[in-house]
Amino acid sequence: MDCMQNFISNINKMTAKYDFHCHSTASDGSLSPAELIQRAAQQQITLIALTDHDTISGLVLAQQAALENNLTLINGIELSVTWHKHAIHIVGLNIQPNSDILMTGIAQLQHIRHQRVSKIAEKLEKNHIVGVYQAMAILGEKTLITRSHFARFLVSEGYVQNEQQAFDHYLGQGKCAYVATEWATLAEVMDWIHQAGGVAVLAHPLRYHFSATLMRRLLTEFKNLGGVGIEVVSGRYQIDDIRRCAEYAQKFNLAASVGSDFHTPANPWIELGRLAALPTELTPIWTYF
Ligand code: AMP
Ligand code: MN
Ligand code: MN
Ligand code: MN
Repeated sequence: MDCMQNFISNINKMTAKYDFHCHSTASDGSLSPAELIQRAAQQQITLIALTDHDTISGLVLAQQAALENNLTLINGIELSVTWHKHAIHIVGLNIQPNSDILMTGIAQLQHIRHQRVSKIAEKLEKNHIVGVYQAMAILGEKTLITRSHFARFLVSEGYVQNEQQAFDHYLGQGKCAYVATEWATLAEVMDWIHQAGGVAVLAHPLRYHFSATLMRRLLTEFKNLGGVGIEVVSGRYQIDDIRRCAEYAQKFNLAASVGSDFHTPANPWIELGRLAALPTELTPIWTYF
């Protein structure tokens, strides 16, 4: 632990390039854990967290690749939460993947995901989409299925032109194949992360389109439950977005995290580690690792 802290504070001094939010084929990324780490190394990233949706199954291969490519991998996960009927995401960083409590929690979320896959497939088939069940059964053998996988299927079969259209026409909230889902509660996932020795970070805070009041409620609750960080620099955030999130960080005394939410090289707008610098007045999340 001390060793890790020294290492991290050293690379901090060297102005390391880092990324604490990205996905592999263990969930809805298109690169395998090893390919993802190789890409991170090519991007001169020195410190990275792999944060697949509701699974840690990519971490072992990612750790191997990190060793081979001379960069440091923080074990991470992005957990699905239902908070006051809204789906939100909490990133757990520096978790011990062998934690029983975390593993039991993840199994619960994976069970919910499996059930949801059948329900979404059923709705799609009712809407004249053919072969969804079979495609998802094959995919499901090696990956944890998300709506992104359905979106890619709809694109590859020519039902829509791109993933955004798949969400707009079929998978998004209120659309014909949308399935309202009760994920874990905020209190539950915070507990799992803490029991696994990790720190909890609110992912992509602006993606939820919450009012200022709702955001205050969320951050108050998150902080009371032991939340440590908030993503201040995320994916395609512009300077105004960063400023808004930096204000939340300061107001709620939260550390600032940085994560691209990289899923695929096919999206030219988001690259691993290609992120704005953190505002200097904020406490960086890695001081908590
Ligand atoms: P799920 O957790 O199964 O509901 O899937 C959520 C994933 O779908 C997210 O992590 C994104 O990668 C992707 N996603 C969600 N909304 C959209 C959207 N509007 N356009 C493209 N991808 C989306
Ligand atoms: Mn995703
Ligand atoms: Mn997310
Ligand atoms: Mn993500």
